Amino acid sequence: MKFNTKTIHGGQSPDKAYGSVMPPIYQTSTYAQSTPGGHKGYEYSRTHNPTRHALEHAFASIENGTHGLAFGSGLAAIDAVIKLLKPGDEVISTNDLYGGTYRLFTSIFEKFQIKFHFIGMNKASDIKSYINANTKLIWVETPTNPMLNIIDIKAVSAVAKKHNILLAVDNTFATPYLQQPLDLGADIVMHSATKYLGGHSDLVMGALVVKDIDLANKLYFIQNASGAVCGPQDSFLALRGIKTLHVRMQRHCENGRAVAEFLAQHPNVETVYWPGFETHPNHNIAKQQMNDFGGMLSFTTKGNRYEAAIKTVERLKVFTLAESLGGVESLAGHPASMTHASIPKEEREKTGVIDSLIRLSVGIEDSYDLIQDLTQALST
Ligand SMILES: *Cc1c(COP(=O)(O)O)cnc(C)c1O
Repeated sequence: MKFNTKTIHGGQSPDKAYGSVMPPIYQTSTYAQSTPGGHKGYEYSRTHNPTRHALEHAFASIENGTHGLAFGSGLAAIDAVIKLLKPGDEVISTNDLYGGTYRLFTSIFEKFQIKFHFIGMNKASDIKSYINANTKLIWVETPTNPMLNIIDIKAVSAVAKKHNILLAVDNTFATPYLQQPLDLGADIVMHSATKYLGGHSDLVMGALVVKDIDLANKLYFIQNASGAVCGPQDSFLALRGIKTLHVRMQRHCENGRAVAEFLAQHPNVETVYWPGFETHPNHNIAKQQMNDFGGMLSFTTKGNRYEAAIKTVERLKVFTLAESLGGVESLAGHPASMTHASIPKEEREKTGVIDSLIRLSVGIEDSYDLIQDLTQALST
């Protein structure tokens, strides 16, 4: 089945009871038993829920995996992956990382004696010097946030396989429409389904997909034992979101390109960070491992003035100034004062998060209106 069919039918079949085409919302915590242990496969909704199961099958299908798991948030999904480890184990992670992931690793799991190395992964060979007998996991996020660096998943996977280390990829920014990490050698794909998979800014959810039954069983055990599952109502909404993922992503990519090209020629714009430009340092890897370049981009305004960037985002009318990304509506953010404000100025500037940097999640509105909005916001 092709991807554009899988989003609609993957892992889905009409409900057995009445043939309902969408899976019903089984809003229940428990299930009747005819005799102790005599049930229809469902005992308790932390462990099993038919609506969540339908969603988990859809997750597995669109990521070319065999098993999917749904969680109450993206961070709950990451939390479950790290719980595969034990004290003394080590993780090598990308340094240009979603802030909440960094906080979970350093503020929660370092207390349990798990050691994290945050490194640049532009060259996969650079990873080798951090590998030792305790290294159990490599954590990759690509494209990175907010600088849109691209990491070569195949090359990192070759290093991981050689040393028998698990590779997990946070595929939130790209979605399986653009990139399928399991096919490139990753063992685990993770999503904040809050973003593009849900796609309508109306839920918070996480996903994991794997292609190995032993790994799946370990993660199902953690999912049930720790209990960070999502509810049936949100499962239904996420399933509904996934059905239009391919058409939404196509428009996100078209609009992303139109906005990137507009910004690149604007006299008040200094630099545009978008992997679709041939001048982007990782453009060739992006072209190899992604089907298109997505709707996320960042840019800096001329002169690098903090106030000028703040004024620009305040003036936007079609773009909403907000955290998050991946919904149908366009959002703008100012990383230095919002998502990355907790990182010391010198630290954030090392990775490119300077005062004038603005991040856009380009939505699926008419690109004419998005460009008009940016035109008026940038004219001073
Ligand atoms: C939002 C996000 C997360 C965290 O997901 P939540 O659903 O907010 O818990 C993790 N990784 C990336 C890349 C994200 O954008």
